[in-house]
Amino acid sequence: MSSYYRLKCPKCQGPMKVRASTQHHIFLRVMYLQCQYVPCSWAVKADFQMTHELAPSGKENPAVSLPIAPHAIRAQAERDNRETANTNQLDLLDAQEASA
Ligand SMILES: [Zn+2]
Repeated sequence: MSSYYRLKCPKCQGPMKVRASTQHHIFLRVMYLQCQYVPCSWAVKADFQMTHELAPSGKENPAVSLPIAPHAIRAQAERDNRETANTNQLDLLDAQEASA
């Protein structure tokens, strides 16, 4: 199984690669990214955090819960999903490989 992140460097719009990542909490993963455009090579720390539930799990686990997303967050997620589906980004990076 592999997963992909579409990350563009804010400095130069080049592709960003996840160089390493660590799980700090069940809802928080800290990542260290680096721009793959060599003349830029910007390196940053980033947090990937699960914050709200958009839809219930088919396998409920009472030990794992997040606040239910309010309408404004669900509506924004719908808009972002439509926008992402219409975007053809070329900078897909294998996060599994990067975190190995
Ligand atoms: Zn860059």
